[in-house]
Formats: sequence, C-alpha cells, structure tokens
Amino acid sequence: MPPLIGITCGRETRADGVVRHLQNAAYVNSIVQAGGAPVLIPLSEATGIISALARRIDGLLLSGGGDVDPARYGQKPHPQLGPVDPLRDEIEIALARAAGLRDLPTLAICRGIQVLNVALGGTLYQDIPSEVAGALPHPYRPGNRRDYLAHTVQISPGTRLAAILPTEGPLPVNSMHHQAVRDVAAPFVVSAVAPDGVVEAIEVPARALCLGVQWHPEEMVEGHPLMRRLFAALVQAADQRRSRRGEDLG
Ligand code: MN
Repeated sequence: MPPLIGITCGRETRADGVVRHLQNAAYVNSIVQAGGAPVLIPLSEATGIISALARRIDGLLLSGGGDVDPARYGQKPHPQLGPVDPLRDEIEIALARAAGLRDLPTLAICRGIQVLNVALGGTLYQDIPSEVAGALPHPYRPGNRRDYLAHTVQISPGTRLAAILPTEGPLPVNSMHHQAVRDVAAPFVVSAVAPDGVVEAIEVPARALCLGVQWHPEEMVEGHPLMRRLFAALVQAADQRRSRRGEDLG
C-alpha cells in the first residue's frame, strides 16, 4: 500500500461563477512517480474535515500558488502584492502547524516554503524585484518553459537537502516566484541560497522530514531526474512513519 500524500489545492472562480478547487498535474505525477498515493486536500471551510484529513495522511506537500496575506506576518500590503486567498492561507498554515506537532513528513514548494516559514513565525519579502537590491530574475517570465533554469542555488553542506540532492558546486534551478523567505522562523536552518542571497530552501533538522524549496522540482523531474529524489524522500519518510504507527497499533 503506498503512503497517502496530501497535496494542498488552490481555487479559481470561472467566468460563469463556478468555483473550482485545482492543482497542477505535475505535483500529482511526481508523487505517483515516487511511489506515493496523492490525496488532493480541498479548500473547505469545514475545519474538522481538514484536521481529519491531516490525521489520515502519511505525508504533506504544501504546493505553489499565489501570495500569502502579509497580515499573517504583521506587515501592510506592498503595492506589488498579488491576489491573496485568506481561506487557503488559513488551511495551509493550520496544516503546516499540525504537521509540526505530529512530525508529519512535509515537502513545501514555492508558495509552500513561504507558508511554512510564516506558519512558524517567519516573514517574507513581498516583492523581490522592488525589495531586494541586485536580485536575480526569480519571477516567472512569460514565454519561458516551466523548467527553464533561471539561476543556481548553493546547498549548505551537512543539511538534509545536501543528502537528498548530492551535487558538486552550484545547482541550476527553475524560478517562478516574486516573494521569498525574509526572516527565517526559529525552527529552521537555511539549506540553500541563490547567489543574490535569496533563501531558496529551509529545513527543520530535528524532524523526520520538513523541507521547503523555493524552486519547482515537480516541473523538473522529466528533464532533471535528480529532482525526483525530493519526492522520493517525502514518500519514503511518509512510508516509514506509517510503518511505525502500524507497529504502535499492533
Ligand atoms: Mn528563485
């Protein structure tokens, strides 16, 4: 039985008013490829449903998406702030905290690393181009492929990320974000930075797996198979946790 990996969703309102909960197939496919069973977590206001799902899943993938409401980290909106979804913030922050309390293996991608940091007390840059002097081209550029290698990251030796992605020197990654981790929340160590100093990965050393990356590995798994190792690490940690719980019940 493959471990259940919860994947958070976004939502959109169609022109005819129909609201849809959605997620890119690339996340689902990456989890399936790694041997996990993806479970899409809907944006329901019924918090009991969300906490019930959090208790059933074996691992959590906090997905990419729009901006986090800066009120969540005590800042006023910057003029370049994009649309926010308070319900999505609420659900994902609750899931990130629940995962911390229960040591649920967690992989957070793009918006996900930002949610993870904010959930545990950190802050964000609301707009890299206007707030980080000399920043590299982190935002998505129309016309670029989603696996376009926009800049490199330097992975910190000795971290969990370094064990998952063994590389010599800088690692080229894609980049589709205009926000980034600013003040790093207490439980995290920085496990990768871009050459301009922008934080590209954080992790909690004490947990089975709690890793956030600012790039989009799910868009790189075909052309850059090394990135499959991130999803394999999540599924493996989730499988181990489930086996341990099974023994406890037995
Ligand atoms: Mn970047």
